[in-house]
Amino acid sequence: MNDLLLSAGKNPLIKKILTEVGVPTPVALKRQSGALSEIPLKDQRLAFVTASGKTSEAVLTALAEAGANIYCEHGVAKEIEAHLVAFGRQIRRLATLEEKETLDALVFDGSAIQDIASLESVYEFFHEHLRRLATNGRVVIIATTPANGDLTYVRALEGFMRSLAKEIGARGATANLIIRADAADDALLGPLAFFLSRAACYVTGQVLPLAANAQKPKEILRAQSLKGKVALVTGAARGIGAEIAQALALEGAHVVCLDRSQEGEALAATARKIDSHIFYQDLSEASAAEKISAYFTTKFKGCDIVVHNAGITLDKTLKNMPVESWRRVMDINLRAPMTITRRMVADKSLNAFARVVCLSSIAGVAGNFGQTNYAASKAALRGFVAATAPELAKSGSTINAVAPGFIETKMTASIPFFTREVGRRLNNLGQGGQPQDVAQVVAFLTQPAAYAVNGQTLRICGGSLLGA
Ligand code: NAD
Repeated sequence: MNDLLLSAGKNPLIKKILTEVGVPTPVALKRQSGALSEIPLKDQRLAFVTASGKTSEAVLTALAEAGANIYCEHGVAKEIEAHLVAFGRQIRRLATLEEKETLDALVFDGSAIQDIASLESVYEFFHEHLRRLATNGRVVIIATTPANGDLTYVRALEGFMRSLAKEIGARGATANLIIRADAADDALLGPLAFFLSRAACYVTGQVLPLAANAQKPKEILRAQSLKGKVALVTGAARGIGAEIAQALALEGAHVVCLDRSQEGEALAATARKIDSHIFYQDLSEASAAEKISAYFTTKFKGCDIVVHNAGITLDKTLKNMPVESWRRVMDINLRAPMTITRRMVADKSLNAFARVVCLSSIAGVAGNFGQTNYAASKAALRGFVAATAPELAKSGSTINAVAPGFIETKMTASIPFFTREVGRRLNNLGQGGQPQDVAQVVAFLTQPAAYAVNGQTLRICGGSLLGA
């Protein structure tokens, strides 16, 4: 569905006129096109500052390997500098920047913050350097849960980040917080590179805690990271599911596209584009989980990625909602993901180091008028992934959910104009997301590099004010 304000904003003259009459136009988001590259941060100019003044060699090196040129507040050890220069990247002091020079990303590691005095370092850094953040820029703040479990200053960084995300959203820029517990540097790198990349363009104002002691996969590739993996995407005939199937295939996975037989034509169209297998199955059938599990055991050597995307809405206010609408929504949105996951774990048709992703919704965070059934099913998925994560972690596997906000799909196009306009604008970025924004976040969660993200729900909502 065309977003008139977004289109108008692309014309400098119209944008100027609209701004003068007090109608702000959203900034067109820069999106990732095609598969992830070996150097996803190519030529990004990135400031990296830590509250302690000590910089982690592993993190700096990984950022440089991913393509970034790095600006630090203090000098770095000569060996680190030599290493980065060997990668053909620049490492400079922030103080050497010219007045008008901009930065693509500001990364602040607040792990060393332990009191109100040291908390001021986050104010100082962003107060000084935020003006340099480019349009479509990225802010990532890193926090560490202290050994004594006292989250006072982690929460302070969270409140700071959420407010900053609102202040920079009009520039198409995002801010997010990673909480690393005692997760090793290696576990941080995947999520950090993701938040800095274009793949995360519609994720802002979010907190992503990393699991401590997560099992690291043997090989972590940046490009073609899903090569050799077998993936199941349910509801792949159209919409977000079709985009997810394509995104996984682009990263090298062999995808099995599942949908109902009545969606045959659309499903075949998705499958043809990516050379995938087709699996006709109505997920409301009681035998669905058993059939799916058996399929992966007999046809493949198990399944590595499951994306529970299929979902339905049957909206009515509670007093007018027939029990059939309640039951059908539960059957497809909740019972199917739960029983399929459990069956595949029990049958061992879910391989070690597997990735499971459930499609929740902002309605499952904030609730929505006329959607008591849908919101209950989508909120339950958040609970399900949190409850199931410890069991999957034993085999190096993860299970997470994503909660999309207002996404420009056929479903949202059918909402009446004024309601649609309100829904679309009520977020930090002032616009709706695209199905590919959801697909790329799902693709990130399926990557080996996301091995320490487990039991979480990541919102893809442009920092929606709903349920914030
Ligand atoms: P969609 O209606 O366009 O596609 C859903 C797919 O699921 C269809 O291909 C449909 O045939 C399939 N499906 C439905 N019932 C099925 C069944 N019984 N068995 C097998 N397949 C079945 O939906 P979408 O907008 O692409 O949404 C995809 C997912 O994202 C859903 O879970 C939805 O709740 C969630 N979501 C969407 C939005 C949005 O803005 N579109 C926002 C938040 C969450």
